Amino acid sequence: MASRFNAGRTVAVVGGGASGLVTALALAAGGLHVTFVAPRRAPDPRTTALMDGSVKALQALGVWPALLPNAAPLRVMRLIDGTRRLLRAPEVDFRAGELGLDAFAWNLENEPLLAALDAAVAGHAGIERIEASVVTVTDGPDAVRIELDDGRVLNVALVAAADGRNSPCRRAAGIEMRMREYPQVAVTATLAHARPHGDISTEFHTETGPFTLVPLPGERSSVVCVVSPREAEQLMALDADAFARVMERKAHSILGAMRLDSPRGNFPLSSRTATSFARGRIALIGEAAHIIPPIGAQGLNLGIRDAATLAELASAAANSGEDIGGASVTEAYERRRRADVESRSFAVDLFNRSLLSGFVPLAGLRGFGLWLLGRSPLLRRAVMREGVGPTRDVPRLLAGERL
Ligand SMILES: Cc1cc2nc3c(=O)[nH]c(=O)nc-3n(C[C@H](O)[C@H](O)[C@H](O)COP(=O)(O)OP(=O)(O)OC[C@H]3O[C@@H](n4cnc5c(N)ncnc54)[C@H](O)[C@@H]3O)c2cc1C
Repeated sequence: MASRFNAGRTVAVVGGGASGLVTALALAAGGLHVTFVAPRRAPDPRTTALMDGSVKALQALGVWPALLPNAAPLRVMRLIDGTRRLLRAPEVDFRAGELGLDAFAWNLENEPLLAALDAAVAGHAGIERIEASVVTVTDGPDAVRIELDDGRVLNVALVAAADGRNSPCRRAAGIEMRMREYPQVAVTATLAHARPHGDISTEFHTETGPFTLVPLPGERSSVVCVVSPREAEQLMALDADAFARVMERKAHSILGAMRLDSPRGNFPLSSRTATSFARGRIALIGEAAHIIPPIGAQGLNLGIRDAATLAELASAAANSGEDIGGASVTEAYERRRRADVESRSFAVDLFNRSLLSGFVPLAGLRGFGLWLLGRSPLLRRAVMREGVGPTRDVPRLLAGERL
C-alpha cells in the first residue's frame, strides 16, 4: 500500500479502544505520522473515571471541551466498611480540596468518551485511519511489516500496540504475560436515583469485593459491583426493576430509589502484566501491556500515561534525527512505565485480597490503615496524591504541557 507518510517517521497505532485513540492523538501531537489501524468497535457499556492528570493530558490534546458536557466531577471519595467482620474499619472521606484540586477525577460513560476521541482522530491531518484488523506483524531491523485483513501491507518504524488483552502484536513480539485470576466478577450498570450524589463517589467494602457508586451528570451514577461469579450470574438474570432494587439495597439506600438506565456488563476480574512493555520496534499500550481489576479507577489512566510517555520519547527521537523505533526509545519506555504499572497492580491486589481474606490480621491491617488515614492529614494527602497519579517521572502531557 502506498502511504502518504514517510515510513521512517511513521508509527502504526493498532487498536481502536480508548488507549489506542489517545495514543494516536498524542503521537500526532508530537509531530509524528500516525497510521491508525482499527476494526469497527463494539458498544462499550462501561464508564471511566479519568484522574486529574489524564484530564490535563486530554486538555493539552484539545479533546477535553468535547468530553466535559458528559463528565461529572468526583470531589469526595468516601470509603465505607460494609463487611460484617469483627474488625471493621471506620468511614474515611478523601476531599479533592485537600490536594488543592477541584476534583480527583471526572467520570463519564465510555460511549461518549470513545465517540469524542474517534472524532478527534478522524479530524487530525497527521493521522491516517484504516478500518481493518492486523493479521501478521513481523519485526525487522529497520521496520515492522504489518499485514492487514483487507490485503494491505504497511511498513513502519514503530508499532504502538493498543490491541487489547489478547494483543496479536504482543504475541508477534513474543512477550509473555504474568497472570493472576480472582474468584470475582464486576457487574456494571448506570443507575438513575432519587437523591443527588453531591459529587461524592462511595465505595462500600464487602466480603466479595468493593461495591462502588461513581457520579455521572444528573442524578445518575455508575455502579461497579464486585461479586462472586455465581452472584454475578444471578444479578445478570434479574429483570431491570429487581436488579435496581438489589443495587439500592447494596447502596444502603444512600441515593434513594434506583432505576436501571443502561445495559448491564459483567467482567471477570484478573490481573495481567507483560514481562516486557516493548521488544524490538513494538511497544505495548493499555490492556495489551497490563490489566488491573476495576478497583480504584486505574486501568485507562495507566493507558493514557503509556500513550503520553511513548509519544514524548518518540517525538524527542524524531526531533533529534534518531530512529523513532530504536532501542533508546523502547528501552526508555520500558524503564519509565514499569514502576507505575507494577506499584498500582500491587496496591490493587493487596487491597482486594484484604477484602476477600477471612484472615483476621490482613483484614485488621486494612482497618488499621483506614483508621490511620482518617486521623493523619499528612498520610491522607500522600495517599490521595499517589492515587490520583504518580508523582515522579510524570510525562509532560500529564502535566498539561504540549509536546
Ligand atoms: C468494569 C470496569 C470499569 C473500569 N473503570 C475504569 C475507570 O473508572 N477508570 C479507568 O482508568 N479505567 C477503568 N477501567 C479500565 C479500562 O476500561 C481499560 O483500561 C480500557 O478500556 C482499556 O482500553 P484499551 O484501549 O487498552 O483496550 P480495549 O478497549 O480492549 O481496546 C483494544 C482494541 O484493540 C482492537 N483489536 C484487537 N485485535 C486487533 C487486531 N488484530 N487489529 C486491530 N485492532 C485489534 C479491538 O477491536 C479493540 O478496539 C475499567 C474496566 C472495567 C472492566
